[in-house]
Amino acid sequence: MKHNFNAGPCVLPREAVEAAIEAIRDFDNTGIGILEISHRTPGWERVMAETRQLWRELLNIPENYEILFLGGGASTQFFHVPANLLNKKAAYLQTGVWAKKAAKEAKFYGEVEVVASSEDKTYSYIPKDYVIPTDADYFHITTNNTIYGTEIRYDMDCPIDLVADMSSDIMSRPVDVSKYALIYGGAQKNVGPAGVTFVIIRRDLLGKLDRKLQTMVDYKTHAAEEDKNISMFNTPPVFPIFVMYETLKWVKNLGGLEAMNKINVEKADLLYNEIDRNSMFVGTAAKEDRSIMNVCFVMAPGHEDKEKAFMEFAKERGMVGIKGHRSVGGFRASIYNACPVESVKALVQCMQDFEAANK
Ligand SMILES: *Cc1c(COP(=O)(O)O)cnc(C)c1O
Repeated sequence: MKHNFNAGPCVLPREAVEAAIEAIRDFDNTGIGILEISHRTPGWERVMAETRQLWRELLNIPENYEILFLGGGASTQFFHVPANLLNKKAAYLQTGVWAKKAAKEAKFYGEVEVVASSEDKTYSYIPKDYVIPTDADYFHITTNNTIYGTEIRYDMDCPIDLVADMSSDIMSRPVDVSKYALIYGGAQKNVGPAGVTFVIIRRDLLGKLDRKLQTMVDYKTHAAEEDKNISMFNTPPVFPIFVMYETLKWVKNLGGLEAMNKINVEKADLLYNEIDRNSMFVGTAAKEDRSIMNVCFVMAPGHEDKEKAFMEFAKERGMVGIKGHRSVGGFRASIYNACPVESVKALVQCMQDFEAANK
């Protein structure tokens, strides 16, 4: 039995994987597999519409927001966002390398003000002391810092349009979408496999600037037509969207985001409690900013020499993907929505056994 703690792409709900396997054989009783259908077949248009509907339902997305499913990953949104929204100046909160990369792309389109950064301490905390400039076109945040295990787990009040990269905590908790102008992310951490990118955008922002944009870069191109719930300007990533559809059905069946949040908090508590209790390990993120999605820890002072030994020990017990990002070192357990509580319990047991064996 493997326990998959990969940071992304990562574990998916078993039900979604099984449905995907079946759909490859035969999609929607058409006698043709999903990899081989036209994206204009009615069965597929229904899946597209239902997937959008699931997003709307689960996140309670208001009517004046549009949901887009694009290619290119979150990294492409790093420049799509400023291309569409940055007129003169944008503000960025630098809470990790993803945030830094997002700000870098914005500089192609105008002035970028980094209001605060936690780079001084390897992004182990979320800066609190900063002023959001009211003359900026938008304020950009990264709600979950996948590499460092810090998270902004609330919907902040922002005097200007708030833009959030939610790649690694989308659908992990209920979100007040109305507080954001735009939310984007790659699907491959919490809502599906790699290959599809979600963008939730307030409609008045479509075509906001006078800037001439390439057709594919312009959000307007991808917005649904008034009377239809689907938009497919070009071929969408059919298979990743299908797996996302099945993943969201799984979330809905569990009871939606309130229930998901409860399970996620329980899982994170189990692991953080063990890190804080266990004499061999220490957490790397500031306690008040700890992520419930990515749990980062290192060997405690005096035990640094046992890092390799624990990695081996954990591997023998089926733990996969717990090596920390090279910039932080140590270990990172990504415990996204689909990571079963059994896997978290197995990792906790493994840490306890390692402590007992090394005392
Ligand atoms: C993984 C990740 C990205 C990069 O996503 P891609 O889809 O690979 O471009 C950006 N931001 C955050 C917060 C991430 O976790």
